[in-house]
Amino acid sequence: MGKTVAKQLQAIRGMNDLLPEQTVVWQYFEQKVRGVLASTGYQEIRMPVLEPTELFKRSIGEVTDIVEKEMYTFDDRNGDSLTLRPEGTAGCVRAAQQHSLLQNQTQRLWYYGPMFRHERPQKGRYRQFYQVGVETFGMEGPDIDAELILMSARLWRELGILDHVRLELNSLGTAADRKRYREALVEYLRGHLEALDDDSRRRLDSNPLRILDSKNETTQQLLEGAPVLSDYLDEESQLHFSALKAMLDEAGVAYVVNPRLVRGLDYYGKTVFEWVTTELGAQGTVCAGGRYDGLVEQLGGKPVPAVGFAMGVERLILLLETLQLIPAEVHHQVDAYLLVLGENCSSYALTVAEQLRLAVPSLRLVVNCGGGSFKSQMKKVARSGAPIALIVGDDEVSSRRIGVKYQDRDEPQQALTLEQTQNLLNQQLA
Ligand code: ATP
Ligand code: MG
Repeated sequence: MGKTVAKQLQAIRGMNDLLPEQTVVWQYFEQKVRGVLASTGYQEIRMPVLEPTELFKRSIGEVTDIVEKEMYTFDDRNGDSLTLRPEGTAGCVRAAQQHSLLQNQTQRLWYYGPMFRHERPQKGRYRQFYQVGVETFGMEGPDIDAELILMSARLWRELGILDHVRLELNSLGTAADRKRYREALVEYLRGHLEALDDDSRRRLDSNPLRILDSKNETTQQLLEGAPVLSDYLDEESQLHFSALKAMLDEAGVAYVVNPRLVRGLDYYGKTVFEWVTTELGAQGTVCAGGRYDGLVEQLGGKPVPAVGFAMGVERLILLLETLQLIPAEVHHQVDAYLLVLGENCSSYALTVAEQLRLAVPSLRLVVNCGGGSFKSQMKKVARSGAPIALIVGDDEVSSRRIGVKYQDRDEPQQALTLEQTQNLLNQQLA
């Protein structure tokens, strides 16, 4: 009997491994994000990836795409229903309430991590994907809405994509406004049932506002003649919206008002916005958010005004890659590679390497471990991309020196003391 070869297991569909050549790009992005958030006074919060299923049902809404068909929900060993978080806002509100961060104070919070939705995997749409989310609490005016938008615009500028994204803006008014509007919309659509696609017909009873962002063309045509939400806004919502637009005008941030922008979650009211690119096909929304003044109360707290957004990290990185905006140095992770050319040279090489790392704090130095011929070690230098090769052989060990050879220019190898090597590396990295 022949040996059976064990079947290799694969990652779950729609859940991606990120290999080292990709993680350096992610780190570049993360570092820009952290910089922008820190400079605006936002503080990081970290929540579990699992929450009680009830939390998402009560916040996102029972008749949304997420809760109806996208959640990873299961019973744990105690029989409690748990759900892998499909988004971060609900958990963030839960945590902020649980730890009393919301009473008589303002909060500017952000989080970063994986979200889970059982969707059809395709470019820019995965089952495990990452969001950077920002949530603010206790500020009801349009100034904080504007701050969020200006902050995201600044991040786009730093990443070089500001000219490739468009800001879409709308106001959803109050719950009462939406109720009056919903009635008018349903009445209009009932008069044209034959022109509605199946999905939209189903939503007519459950969530008619979602029909507004139907991708179906005849439905879109039908909506041309439908009542518009902006005609149903109360005075306060109108003032809030025009004040926000004035602030964006003054700050020089361009936007388009999209009266059909409703967002897929139930908890939004007043301001909603999306940053959209045309470079990624159907998955063009890279960042989306809005105001959710009713959510804290809905989850059992005293009412607290709130506004936030979440960006899709994979989509932003895809956009950076599509536009070739990732600086070349992102892929250069090694400044020097130390060759060890002799059986008794390892301890000297490792000690010298530690001393260099101590003396040159930004130095990224790789020591060759596991031996190998000069030729094979030189191949590793080339693969590492290091501009400098450091060399330790028997001669260097006995003379207490370090061989130094530039990889990017034609100069003879030098034999330097530890101190000279430190100085050279400091100059090189400056
Ligand atoms: P879409 O309309 O593309 O399905 P959404 O309205 O469901 O997006 P949100 O819940 O607002 O998305 O999430 C905020 C952002 O997270 C989106 O704008 C997008 O960039 C990203 N995102 C959402 N779902 C996915 C996914 N399955 N894969 C990758 N990124 C996603
Ligand atoms: Mg979605």
